[in-house]
Amino acid sequence: MLRFAPSPTGDMHIGNLRAAIFNYILAKQRKERFLIRIEDTDQARNIAGSDKEILQILTLFGLLWDDLVYQSANFSYHNQLAQKLLDSGKAFYCYCSKDFLESKKQEAIEAKRAFRYDDSWAEIEKSSGKPPVVRLRKSTEPITYHDSIKGELHFAPNELDSFVIMREDGVPTYNFACACDDMLYDISAIVRGEDHTSNTPKQILVHRALGYEKHIEYAHLPIILGESGKKMSKRDSASSVAWLLEQGFLPSAICNYLISMGNHTPCEIFSLEEAIAWFSLEKVAKAPVRFDLARLRFVNHAHLSRLSDGDLALLLESSDESMGKLARIYLEEASTLNELREKIARIFAPKDIYALYEGQDFSKECALLLESLQELITNAPAEYESFKNQAMQASSLKGKGFFKALRILLTGASHGPDLSKLYEILRPYLQAIIKVVKLDSSAPQ
Ligand code: GLU
Repeated sequence: MLRFAPSPTGDMHIGNLRAAIFNYILAKQRKERFLIRIEDTDQARNIAGSDKEILQILTLFGLLWDDLVYQSANFSYHNQLAQKLLDSGKAFYCYCSKDFLESKKQEAIEAKRAFRYDDSWAEIEKSSGKPPVVRLRKSTEPITYHDSIKGELHFAPNELDSFVIMREDGVPTYNFACACDDMLYDISAIVRGEDHTSNTPKQILVHRALGYEKHIEYAHLPIILGESGKKMSKRDSASSVAWLLEQGFLPSAICNYLISMGNHTPCEIFSLEEAIAWFSLEKVAKAPVRFDLARLRFVNHAHLSRLSDGDLALLLESSDESMGKLARIYLEEASTLNELREKIARIFAPKDIYALYEGQDFSKECALLLESLQELITNAPAEYESFKNQAMQASSLKGKGFFKALRILLTGASHGPDLSKLYEILRPYLQAIIKVVKLDSSAPQ
């Protein structure tokens, strides 16, 4: 079984989504089940509703799960397993207070050595009456594991001390709950962010202490850097999946982009289904990858272009296929749904002919053309050429003045796609489109 194990602690980060996608792909390739485990053990950090948002995003991306579990539902198992470790002497109670540990940390800093918990401290403060934590006894052997992306990783025994597996309130720590659950659900491979690289030896130690021998494959995904080259933090809006969706990026495009980041893929534009056929973790680069919004825009544009007119229209909340056709024309200058929405909305909004367009005033031409068009648009000719010729004749405008005015009245912009292409689609709507905000009677005639 493969799993994605998000913590319900806020907005979903693209790094987490990337891990979800990779685990999902492996599950499909290996014909194993895909589990979502909501890691809600850290009650202070949980944010109400965040679990639902994660599940909605996964659904939207087509990352459908076979099983769903909330880690807190397994607390009794975690407790039983901790007890088993205590009974066998592989774990022990530690009564150290925070202040005591802090003073030991300070001593280590002053002596310029790394702080490591010393097992001999466990019972020094036993008489305090404070409930103890449970620690797993440290390993005397080095821990080595193979990472499918990073290669062999070694951890010397002195890098890992006896770490806490159960807090004083009886709640398991992340490393313990995670290791127990990976064992309980028979997880075969784990793909997660690089920040977990040093948690893995601890989780391997838990498995060993519990006598669990199944080999688990590990892969730690390189961190995603922001465009500035620094680690992408929550403050970078593009790190939030919800933000990208709000900007009008398609789930299929975000998915395509996240799979291709720092990866050798056989083609640039593909669907999740297609990626399942060829994806290989070994091809993912181990160096950090930089998030490139321009590249995502390119991929999004390609995914929008692949859609049918009907689907494009539906994404723009319209059941009218001609809105899809219109959107397709505007793809020559838009890369996201929001940009398409904005351009199409401008066509159907009343036009402000007194505004400056690229610093120029076309109000006179627009007013003149508007008047001349009134009759023409009640029975507009099928051909753009004849519409244009009749409009030119009726208004006595020509050249740039005519074309700019026509474009402004039709689209609300002074630049844009070929007017003959637009006319073909807009013809049935001309009466609704050719409306202006106000006609200023004091404007120069
Ligand atoms: N809850 C952890 C996280 O969101 C899960 C890490 C893991 O996959 O084990 O980072």
